[in-house]
Formats: sequence, C-alpha cells, structure tokens
Amino acid sequence: MAISNKIEKFIEEGGWIRKMFESGIALKQQYGANNVFDLSLGNPVIEPPKEFHQALLDLASNPKPGMHRYMPNAGYQSTRDIIASTISEESKVILTGNNIVMTCGAAAALNVTLKTVINPGDEVIILSPFFVEYEYYIDNHGGTPIIVPTNSDFSINVDAINSAVTERTKALIINSPNNPTGTVYNEQTYIDLSDVFTQKQQHYNKEIYIISDEPYRKIVFEDTVCPHWFNHYQNSIIVHSHAKDLALPGERIGYIAVSPKSYNSGTLIDGLTFSNRILGFVNAPAIMQNLIENLQKAAIDPNIYYKKMNFLFNELTQMGYEITKPQGAFYLFPKSPIQDDAQFTDELLQEKVLVVPGRGFGTSGHFRISYCVEDSVIEGSLTGFKKLATKYRMV
Ligand code: PLP
Repeated sequence: MAISNKIEKFIEEGGWIRKMFESGIALKQQYGANNVFDLSLGNPVIEPPKEFHQALLDLASNPKPGMHRYMPNAGYQSTRDIIASTISEESKVILTGNNIVMTCGAAAALNVTLKTVINPGDEVIILSPFFVEYEYYIDNHGGTPIIVPTNSDFSINVDAINSAVTERTKALIINSPNNPTGTVYNEQTYIDLSDVFTQKQQHYNKEIYIISDEPYRKIVFEDTVCPHWFNHYQNSIIVHSHAKDLALPGERIGYIAVSPKSYNSGTLIDGLTFSNRILGFVNAPAIMQNLIENLQKAAIDPNIYYKKMNFLFNELTQMGYEITKPQGAFYLFPKSPIQDDAQFTDELLQEKVLVVPGRGFGTSGHFRISYCVEDSVIEGSLTGFKKLATKYRMV
C-alpha cells in the first residue's frame, strides 16, 4: 500500500467536496461548462478589491531591498503591528505586534495553533455542522475531536457544550460567520460560553482555549456584527485569513492573534512561532505580508453576497425548501427533502447541479450550497432544484 491506512480511510470518508469537484469536471466535459451549475466549492469568483492590485503594482515598481528573503518565523514586525492596532481599535483590547503570528491562511493558522496547545489524547470540542477539515486538523496533532451538535436553527447549545467538557478538554473551535450555515453568533452566546469555560478552567485548574476561526468575519449582512472574543474570554485565540474578505484564497495569507490577557501569552506566541517553522510553513508569504499591511481596512463588498443570498433564499423557500436564513459568509445549508442527503445530492447531480451533502459537515439530512459564484450559475441551478421540489411534493 502506497499510502497509510489512516489517509486511505480519511480520503474515503471525507472526500465529499473532492467527489463533487471531480464529478463537476466530468459533467462539464460531457455537457459544456455553461450547462453545469457548480455550487459545491467555497472558491469566490469575486476579484480582490482594486486597492489590492494597486498595492501589488506599487510594490513591484518600488521593491523593498531584501523583500524576498527569510524573515522571523512570526512574520514582519511592521505587518504584525498594523494588524494588532486594527484589532485593538475594533475590540477595545490593546494588542501589540507581539500578539500576532502571520500564517499561510486560516488552515495553517489552525494547524499551528493545535500543534502548539495539544498534548496526545487531549480533546477538542467542535460544533456540528462544522468545516470539514477540523477533524483532520485535530487528528494531525494527536487530539480527539468531540462533536457537539448545534440547535436546529444552528444556534449554540451552551448546555450541551458544558456537558461535553472533561478534564481532557484543551480547546473549543468555534466558527462565526459559519461555514456551512452562515450563522453569526450573538454577544450573549459569547458571554454564556465565556462563563462556562471560565468555570471549567477553575474546576480543572488548567487552560482551556477558545479558538475562533474567523475567515468570514467581514462578510456579514445588513447590521449584523461579530462580537470579539478578546472582550469576553481570557484564553482566546483568533484565527483569520484574507482568503474570503480580500478574495485571495490562492495567496495563502492569514494570521493568529492571541489575547494579551491569555495565560503566559509570550510563551504561547513563542510556541506558535516555533510550530509555524516546524510544520514546514516557515513563514507566511513575504509579498502578501507586505501588501496586506495597507489593506486592513479594505474588503470585498459583502452586499454582493447578500444579494446572491437573498435571491437564492427566496427562490428556494418559494419552492418549499426549508432554510435557516444566514447572516453572513456565502453558504446556505437547507434541509434535504429526504433524510438521505447523499441520495438527494446525487439526484441533483443528475440535473447537473452540484452541492455537498450535509454529512460532509457532520450533519446528515441537509446539503450545502456555496453561492460565491456567478449569478448565471445560481439562476441556471433553479430548474434542477425546482424539478426535485416537485418530485418530493415540497409545496
Ligand atoms: N475555516 C473555515 C471555516 C473555512 O471555510 C476555510 C476555507 O474555506 C478555512 C478555515 C481555510 O481558509 P484558508 O483558505 O485561509 O486556509
């Protein structure tokens, strides 16, 4: 066997998005790209804001001496300082650049964080439905994922989390705005969870981290705001990425911010910096660090996604699909009209509409639509959705 048993098993179990991606390529070859409606990937079609291209031109025209060399593993001090001051303004907690580690996107930030805090056998609580990679990331570093379901409207079940904490709990990973549901958790949830974890830390006499995965933080609709963990919980760690808010997923740029109030925060930052190095990331891309220094206030316009969401939400609910309306990100997570979500997504595939079954996110009986695509793809998918709504007599 060329690959390990574990990786073979993971590929088999966890390959829903990849399977859809491959089916999409095959269908596009057979029927032509315009006749296939791919709503399976979180890969935004929106281009980065114009400020990004301007900054890129400026940097290329006036290259800084040594700008392609190795740097400290935590990243450029100037980039870290600017990110720290932006978070300080937003959160009202004062950070310095020494609370920040630059990373190769949120995926690297999560792996670096877990590598740094987990001892073998530690438990990490994740909330279903969850971003599909969390289970693998926790396993990467010898931890055990403990899955706690959210409520039927995808709000947080604080009591269930309280009951799931044990002496082996090392962290909670929380993601808001959420992939795959688009839910944004309110301030009361932050207060309640902070109470739970503060008590549990005292009870077990150890640190338990809240790791907040926030790549969609700036993609929120209407007057929705994302509260700040730093205002509520001592041992909080924020993971951010510019994959979504600056539409730069291929450029692999993000960061970890550690609450300055966290226990031994200097040692934690040293650990994160070391893990960044030994996981082989070494440092976040130099050019990207240079560019995002001046782009911390820039972002793609969330209204573009808001309009797409409203259009699709209204069309699908009129057909009879049950959907909890999202407040952010660019996903819908409707109920499947039949319990077997994999069968339903297969049937949609026959209609040349690609979505991902909810079981790929730890929650069967739903499916995920990613609407960060051209309007023509959203519009083209409606015929397939309608056909299955009629088949299953949804209205
Ligand atoms: N976390 C969530 C919830 C995501 O949806 C994604 C990407 O889709 C990531 C992390 C990884 O982001 P990045 O591309 O910055 O590694």
